[in-house]
Amino acid sequence: MEIDVQKNVLEANDNMADANRKYFKEKNVFVLNMMSSPGSGKTETLCRTLVRIMPEIKTGIIVGDICTRNDADRLEVTGASVVQINTDKFGGDCHLAAHLINKSAKQLDLDNIDLLIVENIGNLVCPAEFDIGEDKRAVVLSVTEGEDKPLKYPLMFQVADAAILNKTDLLPYLDYNVKEAVNNIKNVHPGIPVFELSAKTEDGLDPWIKWIKTQVKSKI
Ligand code: MG
Ligand code: ZN
Repeated sequence: MEIDVQKNVLEANDNMADANRKYFKEKNVFVLNMMSSPGSGKTETLCRTLVRIMPEIKTGIIVGDICTRNDADRLEVTGASVVQINTDKFGGDCHLAAHLINKSAKQLDLDNIDLLIVENIGNLVCPAEFDIGEDKRAVVLSVTEGEDKPLKYPLMFQVADAAILNKTDLLPYLDYNVKEAVNNIKNVHPGIPVFELSAKTEDGLDPWIKWIKTQVKSKI
């Protein structure tokens, strides 16, 4: 019984996601879904990314959190158009579903946007199951999290098209095995590009910027 309910929820979500995908195509907007656990540095990575890609690539952001608009405030400083979704109004969902993306995207001027980035709610579990109509997915992992995260949450790394290993500036202070973490990511998803970087110092940021620009230009 419970399984059926879950199946129906995901089916309804998939239909809405397909409608979103069609809508984004009509509007000529490339959509990137960014996911991670809480505290991996998604917002900081996005802030640094926006500074590098705008105004060449006009970018809009939908940012999801259960509560607060802290992330939206940080992102707005870059000049990007930002919509904050707080899911506490919708039962405190720990992921963004396609219907929320549909509603929020309509608050943005998509005719003047090339790239829509969705900063999903910090959670390595269910955001991986909810298609939102995106073109590509990126997952952010930081070196303060265990090297085995990709093995514990394989679906997230399987559905991702790119992975970021963030906060590499902290490596001198940590007992962290980068090689093992990267191997674990590549074991669950062979061939996935992995960008080792520090959003804070911008060390290693260039290959990630290049990846994102190439993705956007392949669609618009
Ligand atoms: Mg954030
Ligand atoms: Zn969830």
